[in-house]
Amino acid sequence: MVYAARLTVLGSLNMDISVTVPDLPVPGATVLGRAAVFAPGGKGANQAVAAARLARDAGMPVAMVGCTGDDEFGRTLREALRAEGIDDSRVRTVAGAPTGIAMITVDHAGENMITVAPGANREVGTADITAVHPAWSHPALSSPDAAGSAASVPAASNAFRDVLVISAEVPIPVISAALAESAGRALRVLNLAPAPSPAEAAELVAAGPEWLVVNESEAAAVLGRTVAGLAEAAGAAADLVTAGARNAVVTAGAAGAAYCGPQAAGDARTPGDARPPVDARPAADARPAGHARPAGDARPPAADRPGVITVPGFKVTAVDTVGAGDTFVGALAVALGADVPPVDAVTAAAAAGAAAAARPGTQSGMPRPSDVLAATGHHWPVTER
Ligand code: ADP
Repeated sequence: MVYAARLTVLGSLNMDISVTVPDLPVPGATVLGRAAVFAPGGKGANQAVAAARLARDAGMPVAMVGCTGDDEFGRTLREALRAEGIDDSRVRTVAGAPTGIAMITVDHAGENMITVAPGANREVGTADITAVHPAWSHPALSSPDAAGSAASVPAASNAFRDVLVISAEVPIPVISAALAESAGRALRVLNLAPAPSPAEAAELVAAGPEWLVVNESEAAAVLGRTVAGLAEAAGAAADLVTAGARNAVVTAGAAGAAYCGPQAAGDARTPGDARPPVDARPAADARPAGHARPAGDARPPAADRPGVITVPGFKVTAVDTVGAGDTFVGALAVALGADVPPVDAVTAAAAAGAAAAARPGTQSGMPRPSDVLAATGHHWPVTER
């Protein structure tokens, strides 16, 4: 089968500069660390790499939209994309702005401090979105179905369907423009990471992306309340759907992920499936007493809300969880582009995230289908060409 989809990732490209130190410095202090390690990063580029590795066998093309500076880091980052088979022709080189960098300091216990200098990522503009538009001029997603999966394009027609992945290390007005421009033309996967202000987040979620993905702390920032653990993630996913997302996922690290959407009940597991059981019971509303609902809060507790399921995390020995969330997003986009049903797509993304956590490095640790199988026992669902 040929998967009639292609993926475009709109987001950041950074050079990650990591230094390991015995103890993190306090303000005003200087600490001596080991030699700096330079590695390609940025949420957008990470998601593109995760997607490309998992889409490659299926022949699903992946393109990146973003900006770098006219400097050595920028050239290295683009080369890293090309080495993964990612189309970098719509990555714009900005004169006069440095390529984005993330300065990462890690202590012996794995605790870290990160300073990001966005540089050229701030220069991504609406013109960059318009530049993507011709790619969207093929038979469109005229009517995404209730689950947000694409209206099917016959595999034999050679027509592509688009999946647009957007993360939030580019200017918010550009994200708004991209959501508007791609509405009805692409299946939109919005990853509000890092979380913008609550007002900005509300506006972006209200734009009705087919899919919204956030982790616990981003969900907390968007919803303005604590979100910790799978049960609260489930309640948060339900609230994000109420706020406008058609499908919402709240990831919860090793605990797994919660999903809310119209097809949450449609779990199609087959006998002998190695996946951990999906808990399709409605999640309990585990809000601690200190976070009691204000009087007049009309929302039913999560336990009463239909369409919420939790996918327990795959059991792995985690060695480096940086990039697990980006892997989850890239993997989810590939699965959705291949018409994998929503709950199965979330489960496959959780397996990919777990495999990333089980492997060292950020982009270098992002799994291929065989790595997902080796780390989790889960068969990556998008493999045939
Ligand atoms: P982020 O990196 O954005 O904080 P998470 O930590 O929630 O994102 O991880 C994303 C997903 O990756 C989780 O929902 C889970 O499925 C998987 N994952 C992350 N860490 C682990 C882990 N230690 N063990 C198993 N799965 C993990």
